[in-house]
Amino acid sequence: MTIDRSAARQDAVAQAGARRPRRFERPTGTDGAPMRTSEYFGSLTFNFELMERVLPAADVQTMREHATAKEPLARALADKVAAAVKEWALGQGATHYCHWFQPQTGSTAEKHDSFFSFDRGGMGLEAFTGAQLVQGEPDASSFPSGGMRATFEARGYTAWDSSSPMFLMATESGLTLCIPSVFCSYSGDALDEKTPLLRSLAAVSEAAVASLKLLGHDSKHVVATAGPEQEYFLVDEALHNLRPDLVLAGRTLFGKTPARHQQLEDHYFGSIKPRALNFMMECDYELYRLGVPIKTRHNEVAPSQYEFAPIFETANVAADHNQLMMEVIKSVARRHHFVALFHEKPYAGINGSGKHVNWSLADASGHNLLEPGDKPHDNIRFLFFLSATVKAVHDHAKLLRMAIATPGNDFRLGANEAPPAIISVFLGETLHDIFERLVQGPTAAAATERQSRINLDLAKVPLIHRDNTDRNRTSPFAFTGNKFEFRAVGASASISLPLVMVNAAVATALRAMNERLLKMSGGSRPSDEQVLELIMQVVKETKKIRFEGDNYSADWHKEAEARGLPNLRTTPEALRILKEDGTQELLSALGIMSPGEAKARYNVRLERFNKTRLIELETLLELLSTQVLPTAFAYQAQVAGSLAALKGAGIPPVKTQEEALQVVAALTGSLIAAKGRLSTFIERAGATHDEEAQGALLAGDGMQLMSDVRGLCNDTEALVDDALWALPKYREILYLL
Ligand code: ADP
Ligand code: MG
Repeated sequence: MTIDRSAARQDAVAQAGARRPRRFERPTGTDGAPMRTSEYFGSLTFNFELMERVLPAADVQTMREHATAKEPLARALADKVAAAVKEWALGQGATHYCHWFQPQTGSTAEKHDSFFSFDRGGMGLEAFTGAQLVQGEPDASSFPSGGMRATFEARGYTAWDSSSPMFLMATESGLTLCIPSVFCSYSGDALDEKTPLLRSLAAVSEAAVASLKLLGHDSKHVVATAGPEQEYFLVDEALHNLRPDLVLAGRTLFGKTPARHQQLEDHYFGSIKPRALNFMMECDYELYRLGVPIKTRHNEVAPSQYEFAPIFETANVAADHNQLMMEVIKSVARRHHFVALFHEKPYAGINGSGKHVNWSLADASGHNLLEPGDKPHDNIRFLFFLSATVKAVHDHAKLLRMAIATPGNDFRLGANEAPPAIISVFLGETLHDIFERLVQGPTAAAATERQSRINLDLAKVPLIHRDNTDRNRTSPFAFTGNKFEFRAVGASASISLPLVMVNAAVATALRAMNERLLKMSGGSRPSDEQVLELIMQVVKETKKIRFEGDNYSADWHKEAEARGLPNLRTTPEALRILKEDGTQELLSALGIMSPGEAKARYNVRLERFNKTRLIELETLLELLSTQVLPTAFAYQAQVAGSLAALKGAGIPPVKTQEEALQVVAALTGSLIAAKGRLSTFIERAGATHDEEAQGALLAGDGMQLMSDVRGLCNDTEALVDDALWALPKYREILYLL
């Protein structure tokens, strides 16, 4: 009897192939024409425009100012805002509200409360007070705290972050008012991603305002801006559901790379197939209503890989919006019978997914401090902030490396598709040139003055033109015209920690430069010459972090080592930076994290790494035992049976046929041995209770073992009868959209 092991797979392939694009119609206005984006943009948010309609002008002004303030909102105003937002939300059909926050799980959390209540006389009504708006108290004992909060002390607090607008989360069946919030313990320790981000924004603002003052510019505050480019894969849900590794681990643990993958370079920016495009259109619509300003959508390098990018916003709002974007992508994908994958490396052999986080600083009037100016004086400011950022990366490269350490990113960093774990800065030809001349000092610069476009005579400081032609896709931290692009962030990660560490590093660099300027000028306002002198010094001191070449090349790894640049290859190695005294001092000096909070974050992230690897190993063992090995046995029986039939017919089997059986038998033997190694390793790792030792074991031997087993499974897939293979193959997963 032959078993058709591939029936379910063939069925899923047929289902996926037969799907028609889901139709999505944008709503029409009163004139019957489809509404413009600007007509429904933010329609599900309680934004300032709306506030202006429902609250007194003076209160709205206070709210606007409060977005960058430190003190809590006055209770009387909170009550007024609560009443207004309640009326609006109920009017839209909402029944519940929740404090929407970001525990250290990488995603968001929400606990819904109904507006419904009883008045004193026992009458049912809808109620919502300022106190309920400002603070919530979810039972927090099941969120990761890294030892910050004992389980018996279950209380955690959520507090409204009024700098990010409230919004209505819609499903087909109803609406919930979401209140963006921070999440902390009873004693005020941060348990979330947002709190350190807000603190880092305050720190970088304070340092940058002081710098601006020294440079002769006044600004009440400075904001960090961010625009994350989100990559993701789509896979048909029928095929996805037949891959336990995708379901449990978010990535395939094996799978043979098909003959055609991305070598034709035909997917990147290719025309988007209707099924995917309809999905994107619906995502755009949902995100616009939530006030997320999506700007671009396109096909990425790998088959079935795509990207959305928003218009940049204040870093805090951008971080919230990126979380929302991932949630909307996931839920809209389901409506289209897709599953969206944010894992950094869902498939071996083709590109993984990252999230380029674009970052800059803007003053209170919205002027981008990394924008080269038209006037010489503006260019000094530009060069000051540019060199400060380069110094930040130079002095704190390890901090940035730590911030991007996630289990998924370990498969990507250093592969030929994503910047390596070695952090360096790319400036582009024009600026690199200017920096090189600054390194040579005033005399050298003056000597080359005539040939060069830069002139260090201050009355004629260069007109620096934005250079958009310079592109180096391999740099982990690249200057791209008027912003830096932190390219090594993983696609599944919250952008908060990377932003926290960029802000922390830049704030520290600015503080140091401010101090040096004051020393040079004896406490008064420094002259342009003194500022330029400091910039020259900084550029010289930080030379080794600048790299204009190919970051993917083996030569760079050698050179980086010679330059003494750190190369922290695995997540556990990189996370240790959070435990170092220097890091903890730096973060606490800026008021971003206490040493205890940094230690807790270390614990949470390390534990997450270990658990993720163990889930992968156990899933791999299960697939090997229950799928790959039985398939190998079945195929072995098939080949052996065929040989026996030959013998039965009196035909002596030819050598090549016997060899074919030996190949299957040898592979089956290797699979059995691999199964033994895998289960022994899992036991050993599980019995290693020290988390650091466990992390090292999983990042070292564990990764190697997974890679070995992957190879054997791929060999099996390549060898056996297609009708015996139950798991959807890469060519089906990647090409059936
Ligand atoms: P490119 O990467 O090709 O230069 P874009 O100009 O589209 O592309 O920018 C990519 C991302 O960078 C977008 O999300 C964009 O909003 C963001 N961005 C642009 N300017 C800034 C800025 N000043 N601060 C932060 N992000 C920015
Ligand atoms: Mg870009």
